[in-house]
Amino acid sequence: MILTARALKKTYGITPALAGADFEIAPGEVVAVMGPSGSGKSTLLHCIAGIIAPDEGTVEFDGRDLGSMSDVERSALRRSEFGFVFQFGQLVPELSCRENVALPLRLDGVARRVAEQRADALLEALEVGGVAKQRPGTVSGGEGQRVAVARALVTDPRVLFADEPTGALDSLNGERVMELLTAAARERNTAVVLVTHETRVAAYSDREVIVRDGRTRETVSS
Ligand code: ADP
Ligand code: ADP
Repeated sequence: MILTARALKKTYGITPALAGADFEIAPGEVVAVMGPSGSGKSTLLHCIAGIIAPDEGTVEFDGRDLGSMSDVERSALRRSEFGFVFQFGQLVPELSCRENVALPLRLDGVARRVAEQRADALLEALEVGGVAKQRPGTVSGGEGQRVAVARALVTDPRVLFADEPTGALDSLNGERVMELLTAAARERNTAVVLVTHETRVAAYSDREVIVRDGRTRETVSS
C-alpha cells in the first residue's frame, strides 16, 4: 500500500465528520470514495492528503506517519508526492494553459524550457495539446479539466486526489476526462483517490469505498 489510514476520527465542534474511517490504496490503483452529502468524504480526503489533522487515528504514506511530521515536512510531501484536481477554479487565469501545467515544475526550480516540454507532453497525452497557448478562460470546461489533470500529474505524483473532478461537466465530457485521467495515471503507476457521488464516474475505479456517517465500508466494483 502506498497510503494507509486507520481508525480516523474527526469532529467539528459537536458535529462528527469521521467516526472511525479506514482507507488504503495501492500504487496504480484507482479507488472511488462514494457516499451521500455530509457523510465525511471531503474530511476523509483532507485527512489522508495531510491537509487537516484527524483527532484520532493514523495516516501513513509509503510507511511514513504523517502525524509525526512537522507542517513543513507535510507540505513538502504534498508538493512532491501528491497531485490535486478539484471541481473547478484551479487554473491561474493570467497564464496560458502550458504555463499553468508547467507552474509546479517552475516552482520547484525546473528550467522553463524543460518544464514547458514536459507540460506539452502531458497536454498531448490528455488530448489538449491544441490549447497550450490559450488562457484557461478561452477553453471549454472539459478542456480546462484536462489541463488541470495535466498540471496535477506534471510532478509525477505517487497519489492523485480528485474531488468531484467532473462535477461541473456534462456526462460526455465527464467520461472523456475520466478516461484520459485514469489512462494517464495508470501509465505512471499513480494511485488515484476519486471522490464522487456519480456511479458513472465511479465506474472508472478498481474498487469503491462507501462513506456513511463518518465510517467506511468496502464494496467490490462491478
Ligand atoms: P461530504 O464531503 O461527504 O459532503 P464532509 O466531510 O464535507 O462530507 O462533512 C462531514 C460533516 O462534517 C458534515 O456534517 C459537515 O457539515 C461537517 N463539516 C465539514 N467540514 C466542516 C467544517 N469546516 N466545520 C464544521 N463542520 C464541518
Ligand atoms: P462538498 O461539496 O465537498 O461535500 P461541503 O459543502 O461539505 O463540500 O463543504 C464545503 C466547504 O465548507 C469545506 O471546506 C468544508 O470543510 C466546509 N464546511 C462544510 N460544512 C461546514 C459546516 N457545517 N461549518 C463550516 N464549514 C463547513
